Amino acid sequence: MRLEQNYRDVIRRIDAASARAGRPSEKVTLVAVTKSAEPDWIRELIGLGAGDLGESRPQQLVERTEQISGPVRWHLVGHLQRNKARRVLPLVSLIHSVDSLRLLSALERLGDEMNLEPRVLLEVNISGEARKHGFTPDELTAHWDEVLACRHVRIEGLMTMAPLSDDPETSRPVFRGLRELRDRLAAASPPSFTLPHLSMGMSDDFEAAIEEGATIVRIGTSLFEGLTSNA
Ligand SMILES: *Cc1c(COP(=O)(O)O)cnc(C)c1O
Repeated sequence: MRLEQNYRDVIRRIDAASARAGRPSEKVTLVAVTKSAEPDWIRELIGLGAGDLGESRPQQLVERTEQISGPVRWHLVGHLQRNKARRVLPLVSLIHSVDSLRLLSALERLGDEMNLEPRVLLEVNISGEARKHGFTPDELTAHWDEVLACRHVRIEGLMTMAPLSDDPETSRPVFRGLRELRDRLAAASPPSFTLPHLSMGMSDDFEAAIEEGATIVRIGTSLFEGLTSNA
């Protein structure tokens, strides 16, 4: 009951934010981040229609894909160590969190070797917080030729995390900054390289993110709050 209410409420808020932004709501993909969820909750969520699930830790993603079956696309939203990439690559639909050229070239080599074309987003540290993973905007711009040289990895857009805050308006300039960076990078790329996706917005700020152009929102807490663990 509670999960269904939470899910319907999140969908309603995504639709409303999309309408405010004058964008069709089917342009925004909800990734349900399941890192704190019981397996039963995840199964119920899939039954309600959630088709995109995300985990932040590679090991937990591997375990989830063993626990949970069904028509699900898995997303890795957290840091990927290069030595975990081989295990995770065949399981994921989209890696949101490619945060270094070293990881990108490791994925490029694995894509070649495993005959895969991994779909990825590049994580950018727009807010400039020292503890955060991700490229700085300057770094990404300076190395853009190396990004464009990838032949196996499919780079579909950018991802960012806003600073923790109670006020979604503090996230808005970060989201806008990611969109503007995407526009500049796309303009510096061949026409076929459009970086269509912006993964930005979590439980506390996904509406502002959609208004600023998010095509993917990553939501955990708002879906699972109020549920009691039976463990
Ligand atoms: C946990 C997590 C989320 C979801 O955050 P909530 O605030 O629980 O909605 C989104 N993105 C990443 C990278 C996360 O680790």
